[in-house]
Amino acid sequence: MPHRFFVPANWITPPTVTLADDLARQIRLVLRLRPGDEIVALDNSGAEFTVTLTEVGRTVQGQITGRRPARAEPGLRLTLYQGTLKADKFEWVLQKGTELGVARFVPTLCQRSVVRDRTALAKKESRWAQIIREAAEQSGRGRLPELAPPHSLAEALAAAASHQLTLMPWEEAGQPPLKQVLAGHNPADIGLFIGPEGGFAPAEAEQARAAGAVPVSLGPRILRAETAALAACAVLLYHFDEWDNRDQESGVRS
Ligand code: SAM
Repeated sequence: MPHRFFVPANWITPPTVTLADDLARQIRLVLRLRPGDEIVALDNSGAEFTVTLTEVGRTVQGQITGRRPARAEPGLRLTLYQGTLKADKFEWVLQKGTELGVARFVPTLCQRSVVRDRTALAKKESRWAQIIREAAEQSGRGRLPELAPPHSLAEALAAAASHQLTLMPWEEAGQPPLKQVLAGHNPADIGLFIGPEGGFAPAEAEQARAAGAVPVSLGPRILRAETAALAACAVLLYHFDEWDNRDQESGVRS
């Protein structure tokens, strides 16, 4: 598969594309691409442009040979409100959630979050954005998942009011099975709350329920937060047919 790059929209000027700065350097010195090689340029609109390189220097020029909907972009818009986790676990959720098809990540400060300092978390933003970008390019996404600033649980629940369905997997016994909760729903936009390493406090689950989130079980086993996040994302995307392949040209699911 040709290398894929999200680029500023103004670098794409049909019938040509001009790539500059670090990307031109990466293409020239790291990937050692040459004129005649093909790449895919993405302007984060959901479209992708096939490009044949014509000049590889301090800037890189290319000729656009095609434009089509990015076939790997889910139709379901899934927002993951992830209780903040220790760095490596949180970054793993960002990378794997991007590969799976998450549209927006909201780092959420919970009562039992080990990492709660907004300033410290905000300093991670550029590193986290890079992890998301690289995973989106590698997995063939057509849009870059959004990365929201850290939210308190109350702020996250307020933001989640816009979703057609908001789920809060909670490991406390007695929550309804996911399959039962999803029966009869076909939302285009879902919010998913996953707790931190210590889980949601009962008062937080109550706060979420009062805000319209639906508590749900992910089965009888207690999953680590990073496992629960990705398992729930995978199941939701599979359940709503986002694992079907799509026609390459039209982008229509086959
Ligand atoms: N209280 C757990 C413990 O004692 O290990 C910690 C919570 S778990 C590590 C982190 C999050 O994953 C939970 O807040 C919940 O969102 C989700 N989770 C894990 N297992 C789950 C299950 N079986 N059903 C529903 N949610 C689960």
